[in-house]
Amino acid sequence: MVAAMLVSENTTEPLTFEIFPWNHNFETGIEVIDSQHKKLVEILNRLAWHFASSHSDVSCDHVLDELLEYAKFHFAEEEQIWNSRLPEQTVVSNHQECHQLFVETIRQYQASQSDDEEVLADLFDYLTRWLAFHILESDRRMALMVSAVSSGMSPDQARRHADEQLGGPVAVLVSALLEIYNKLAGSTIQLMREKMARKRAEEELEKVRQARLDEALEQQASEYRQQLEFLAYYDSVTGLENRNGIVRQINTLLESARLPCGSAALISLDLDNFLEVNTRFGEESADRFLGILARRWLDALFPGGALARVSGDEFVVLVRDSAQVQTQLDALQLTAGQPCSINGSTVSVQFSAGVVLFPHEGINDADTLLRQADHTLFRAKQEARGSWLFMDAEEQLQYKARQQLFDEIRKGLPDNQFRLYYQPKVNMCTGELIGVEALIRWQHPERGLLAPGHFLPAVEHHPVIMDIGEWVIREALTQLQRWDREDIELSVGVNIAALHLRHSSFVERLANLLDEFPEVAPQRLDLEILETAALGELDKATETIQRCTALGVSFSLDDFGTGYSSLSYLKNLPVDTLKIDQGFVRDSLDNGSDISILKGIISLSQAFNHCVIAEGVETLEHGNLLISLGCCYAQGYAIARPMPADALPEWQQSWVPPAPWYDPSCQT
Ligand code: C2E
Ligand code: CA
Ligand code: CA
Repeated sequence: MVAAMLVSENTTEPLTFEIFPWNHNFETGIEVIDSQHKKLVEILNRLAWHFASSHSDVSCDHVLDELLEYAKFHFAEEEQIWNSRLPEQTVVSNHQECHQLFVETIRQYQASQSDDEEVLADLFDYLTRWLAFHILESDRRMALMVSAVSSGMSPDQARRHADEQLGGPVAVLVSALLEIYNKLAGSTIQLMREKMARKRAEEELEKVRQARLDEALEQQASEYRQQLEFLAYYDSVTGLENRNGIVRQINTLLESARLPCGSAALISLDLDNFLEVNTRFGEESADRFLGILARRWLDALFPGGALARVSGDEFVVLVRDSAQVQTQLDALQLTAGQPCSINGSTVSVQFSAGVVLFPHEGINDADTLLRQADHTLFRAKQEARGSWLFMDAEEQLQYKARQQLFDEIRKGLPDNQFRLYYQPKVNMCTGELIGVEALIRWQHPERGLLAPGHFLPAVEHHPVIMDIGEWVIREALTQLQRWDREDIELSVGVNIAALHLRHSSFVERLANLLDEFPEVAPQRLDLEILETAALGELDKATETIQRCTALGVSFSLDDFGTGYSSLSYLKNLPVDTLKIDQGFVRDSLDNGSDISILKGIISLSQAFNHCVIAEGVETLEHGNLLISLGCCYAQGYAIARPMPADALPEWQQSWVPPAPWYDPSCQT
């Protein structure tokens, strides 16, 4: 017999809580009554649980109501049983009074509306005591009498019988039980309350802790956000906006309203003599100077304008009202010219600028506008430092046309609009086909088949040339693979633009492309680079060429003779072949000096052990001359025009060199 709080092992959550644990001593032997008692005890336990665990703002009134309702129902049932078996006995009417007293006491308690803990504890004390006493003493006595009457005793005999049964040791047991119940009820409730209070306090604490943590995290996140925002849109040296910042401003302006054509202006501006400041005073002081200049310029900015530093000494100014551009530029130049003291010396600067008015036809995005302004700045600098230029309408149109061309090419490449034609390179004396040169063609959807002269010059300095180059290499490798399968063994020369060759990942990407075609030997790919492309930075070009050579590919110097390579240069450049520029060949027949150039190139190549090929062999005479000078390799219309890949096998089968060239003993 233990008042219990059954607590599961892993959690602090009680499963049941019994202020009044049921015990067989409570059984009267009358089934209906026992089950109703059990129900009463269950409600009482629930009430205690509720009282112990609930927050003070939730009252246990509804459970108390339930208890009262059930008690009344049970009393009525019980009284009916007693009355039917023991009619008109005072024990029964006393018992009834006892019931009434119970109901009244509870009602009184309810009416008092007290939430005071002590009052509540008293109530539980009363309830447990009453229930224990009533069941153990009163109800069991009634039950004993009922059973005695049923076995034939008179009511008086039955009462005496019950007295005997409940007297002596049983009475002691009953009072001991009552005592225990009373104590257990009090301490269990107390224990439960403490436990619950502790749990609530812990939860409260956890909530506060979590809230503090969230707050701290939120605070940190917002600081990071601010820092990121700053880094993304501002320049840390001057505190001005950076390129992203001004792009955002321009786009906002473009989106905010329908601006009239040319109503706003974008100025790209570059300090002319900042390098001098940098070298003279060091980077730190130069940065400080930029900060001062930025602040002065901000003061000189017209309303609605914006100023950003986009790189080292380049700034961008946004002018809301293009009518003010001229005055704005004057004000900025005046400000730049104001002396500023750094490390005890006086410094002033001036700038050149390019201006583009916007919105203008077709082009209304910040990136393009910035590029146009830069482009115009570049021209301004070439004309005169300290000056500015406006991009004019014709330039804008040209710019637009170029942009369109880039877009069309970018779209045309994956769209299969480009083709490679192949022009044979032969040994004129033996008729042997030594290789082919891949030459690009554009099957334009509207303009028909275009030779490279129609689109390459406009893009050779634009990154789109790299897209073209990669397409060409992949296409040439694909063709080599096809020819392989047809047992046609050829090597292919592809033309590589200077910008492409100089790109930092050129070698890596070439290696990847070669990897895509494991069946094709890299030795069959020859990269034709312009002499001028290699001329730029010799060391770098040499390194690139060497790394590519290590992959297995070979190199030819294209249009050789036009780039005035020095001898030492030619000696050091790891190329295999020199391709004599077709200009020398074309003019050689009626120009003595071109013959001597031809002679010079041919002997140079022999001296440096390079192979030599003449381009532009248009006539029989060209061939005769070249053969007589010792150059038997050639390419030109007299041999074959560039042709689609599938025309090549037939050409190869039918072509024989003209009789005057024919010399099967040729060794080159
Ligand atoms: P190139 O590399 O010097 O190519 C030789 C050019 O001369 C080709 O013009 C070819 O058709 C032409 N040609 C060949 N034999 C004769 C001849 O006997 N007489 C005359 N007058 N011309 C001859 P094409 O195909 O129009 O190419 C022109 C230039 O475009 C090429 O000059 C090359 O610099 C460039 N190019 C062609 N394809 C590509 C390519 O795929 N990538 C790159 N980056 N440039 C290419
Ligand atoms: Ca070429
Ligand atoms: Ca050439």
